[in-house]
This record gives sequence, C-alpha cells and structure tokens, in this order.
Amino acid sequence: MTEGELRYNYFFDEWIIYAPKRQRRPDRKKDFCPFCKGSEEVKDLINKPIRLDNKFPSLSLEVDYWSKEEDQLYKSKSAYGKCEVLVYSADHGKKFHELKVDEILSIFEKWIEATKQLKEDKKIKYILPFENFGKDVGASILHPHEKIFCINSLGF
Ligand SMILES: [Zn+2]
Repeated sequence: MTEGELRYNYFFDEWIIYAPKRQRRPDRKKDFCPFCKGSEEVKDLINKPIRLDNKFPSLSLEVDYWSKEEDQLYKSKSAYGKCEVLVYSADHGKKFHELKVDEILSIFEKWIEATKQLKEDKKIKYILPFENFGKDVGASILHPHEKIFCINSLGF
C-alpha cells in the first residue's frame, strides 16, 4: 500500500511521484544485502532472473484511481501502478555489461513476461523496465537488479 500520489510540476512540465513512505524505509546494516542468497527476499541461489514486489513501493494497484487534472493550481493523480524488482544475478558484484548474451536474453524474457501480465490491467498505460544501478538513478542497493514500474498514465 502506498500513501503517495502523482503531482504535476509546472516548472519542469512533468509529473513526479510523491512517495513520502519511501523516506521511512528502515536503515539496513552496512554490509547487509536483501538480494544476496539467504536474505529476507532471496532465500536460494539465483540461477535465473526473479521478479519481486518492491517492499516499499511508490505505486500500488491497491489504491483507487483518481485524477484532479482539472485543478489549475494543484494537479494530482493517485499513485495507481506497481513497482517490481528484477534480481538477475547471484553475484553481488556483477554488472549488467558483464553478463553473457543468454543471461541478458533471460532478463528480456522477464520483461516480456511482466509486460504481458501487467498490461492485463486496463488501467495500466505505461510499463517501464530499467536498470537500477548507481546514485544517479537513486539506487540504494548495489546488488545487480532492475526495476519495473507500471503506471496509469502516459503523461507521467
Ligand atoms: Zn547482494
């Protein structure tokens, strides 16, 4: 469940996800990784990509869809959508560009699987898988993984 919403930013002419709940994520021990074998999220060794629900999602399929786009000063929408994590390697230090072709293809297959499943919800208009690595994209976990966001708006 999320308590956030989408807000329109007039200065940048774009929609942003406002997700205050994500600021209250618990701090992890410095050397702890939730995607290494034996962790809370990944019990066994990963030999193929696995899709997980994001534990602290900024979007949720459990919220009602609403829109206040007609408001001239404060345009907003519900944060209807879904955030998934795609963990694709057991090796904590592996980088995407170091993967073999068949490993990359197995990631693409998971994108296709996720897209087919998520588009079944007719309120979902946009599905975005992306590599989640480094501070520039806001990644807080170094273990190789991707995220799959789906959202109810093309104007996002
Ligand atoms: Zn790890």
